[in-house]
Amino acid sequence: MRSRPTSYLDHAATAPLRPEVAAAMAEVHAEPLGNPTGTHPPAQRARRLLEEARDEVAAFLGRDPGEVVFTSGGTEAANLAVLGSVEAAVRAGGEAVVLCSAVEHPAVRESARAAACAGADCRELPVDAAGIVDLNALARALSSRVTLVAVMAANNETGVVQPLPDVVDAVRRRAPQAAVFTDAVQAAPWLDLADRAAGVDLVSLSAHKLGGPVGTGVLAAGPRLALRARQHGGGQERERRSGTQDVAGAVGLATALRLVAAQRVSTAARVAARRDQLCEGLLARIEGAHRTVPPGVAVLPGHLHLCLAGVSREELLVALGREGICASGGSSCASGALERSHVLAAMGVERGLAEGAVRFSLGYDTGEEDVARAVEVVPAVVAALRRT
Ligand code: PLP
Repeated sequence: MRSRPTSYLDHAATAPLRPEVAAAMAEVHAEPLGNPTGTHPPAQRARRLLEEARDEVAAFLGRDPGEVVFTSGGTEAANLAVLGSVEAAVRAGGEAVVLCSAVEHPAVRESARAAACAGADCRELPVDAAGIVDLNALARALSSRVTLVAVMAANNETGVVQPLPDVVDAVRRRAPQAAVFTDAVQAAPWLDLADRAAGVDLVSLSAHKLGGPVGTGVLAAGPRLALRARQHGGGQERERRSGTQDVAGAVGLATALRLVAAQRVSTAARVAARRDQLCEGLLARIEGAHRTVPPGVAVLPGHLHLCLAGVSREELLVALGREGICASGGSSCASGALERSHVLAAMGVERGLAEGAVRFSLGYDTGEEDVARAVEVVPAVVAALRRT
C-alpha cells in the first residue's frame, strides 16, 4: 500500500529533526561517552562536548556561557525561571510579585499559578485584539515590589511577536529591581535573539522547535539574577539544575542553533512567502475564513492562524489528518474539546469563531508542494464538514 503524501504544517508543535542534528548526535555516541563530571577520557570528552555546546548556545543568544543552564526542555526552563526567581526572592526575605502576559504558554502560566499557590502575588497583563501585551497596563502594574515580568518573545498559537524591547525599557525605568523573563521557544527559529532579547534577564529555548531533539532546552540566566534551583542533587549547571547532563541533546541543540543562525534570513523569507501563499489560497477558497491576527501585526514567518466558522476544530483536524494535512488547533498543550484557548479568549475572539480555530505552522523544510496540497485539500475538507 502506498502511503498518502503528507504535508507537515505543524512545526510550532514540533519540528522534524534536522538530518545534520541526527548525524551530530549519532557521532556523540559513536565513541565512549562518560559522565561530564568524571575524570577519565570518556568523561573529559563528554565535558568538552557539553562546554562546546554551551559556548554555541551562548553565542546564539549573545550571552556569557556561564549563563546557560541546560534543561529537559522549554517547560522545565520556564518553571525554573518563574519559580526559581520567586523562591529566591522569598528566601531573601522579600515578597514575590510576578506580572505575566495573559497569552503566555501554559509552561509559564501554570508556573505563575504554582507560585501564587505558594504565596506570590501574581497578576496577568492584558493584551489587545492582536494579542500584544498592553504596555500601559504594564507601566501601571510596575512598582518597586515587582520581582519578575514574564512576556514571551512570540506567541505559540498566533505567532504574534511581542514588543520585548519596550517591555525591557519599561521595567528598567519603573522597576529596575525586577527581572524580565522571555519564553523564546517559538521565536528562536526566526528572530535574532541576541538582538531582540538584549537586556532580558532570563531567556528560555527548546530544541525540538528548531529541528533539534525533544527533551533538551535551555534557560539563560543573567548574572545579576538570584535563581533558586528547582531540582536538587549533584549541583550540576552551577547549582542551578542538578542531574547528569544530556550531552547528545546539548550537541543536537547547538547544531540546530548553528543551522538556524546561518540560514535565518533566507529561511524566513522563503517560509513567509509560502505562508502568505497558503493564507491567500485558503482565504480565497473558504467562505467566511477569518485571519485571526489583524493585518499589519508582526507575526513569525511560519505561523498562520485562521478561524473557520461553521466547523469544529477537532473534526477539522482529524479530517485534515486523514487527508495528509498535519495542522493543530493552536496550542499543542490545549485540552478540552470546545474550549476557547486562553490566548484567543484574551484577544477577545468570540466563542463561535474560536471553535473553528486552526494553526498552520510552516518551517525550514516546508516545500511548495506542501502548500499547494493544503490549498487544494483544506477547502474541500471544510466544505464537506459544513455539509454534514
Ligand atoms: N513555550 C512555548 C511558547 C512553547 O510553544 C512550548 C511548546 O509547545 C513550550 C514553552 C514548552 O516546551 P517543551 O515542549 O520543550 O517543554
